[in-house]
Amino acid sequence: MDYKDYITVVEDYPQEGVRFKDITTLMQNGDVYKKAMDDMTAFASNQKIDVVVGPEARGFVVGCPIAYALGKGFVPVRKKGKLPRETVDVDYGLEYGKDSLSIHKDAIKPGQNVLITDDLLATGGTVNATVKLVEELGGRVAGLAFMIELKYLNGRENLEQYDIFSLVEFS
Ligand code: IMP
Repeated sequence: MDYKDYITVVEDYPQEGVRFKDITTLMQNGDVYKKAMDDMTAFASNQKIDVVVGPEARGFVVGCPIAYALGKGFVPVRKKGKLPRETVDVDYGLEYGKDSLSIHKDAIKPGQNVLITDDLLATGGTVNATVKLVEELGGRVAGLAFMIELKYLNGRENLEQYDIFSLVEFS
């Protein structure tokens, strides 16, 4: 089974020249979505994870099933202004613009081993911002897990010290 058969490539979305990888067609298929989450959980099982962290919104789609399978907690990273209690925040550059991400200040305890999840690694801006938030709270990033890695955007370049897993690569 090739996961690529279930990912739809949408030309010129959200802007001209971008080939958007749409995972909703993978998620619609229960067997394939389950196998994808099982394969990502298998990577996480080797990392002694205490807690899973994922940025909104597709980081939840991936991170919550893995946290559930591991029997661990899930911590949401959200756009600034969306979390109700005291946060730490970070500004970051996106593939298509700029934004700020936030995490609840008490969400991670110093020394906890954290798995960061998202649907897709492109330039690495989102995951680097998430790493910063986790490390600012004293967490140790034990692994980064993605469904998709866009090799041609070299997201790994600034993440060399981390253990990175992806289900599917696009070159
Ligand atoms: P990066 O910050 O440049 O690595 O972009 C990754 C983030 O943008 C992730 O949170 C993705 O959900 C989103 N993203 C970027 N490109 C795509 C795409 O082709 N399909 C789905 N999400 C994407």
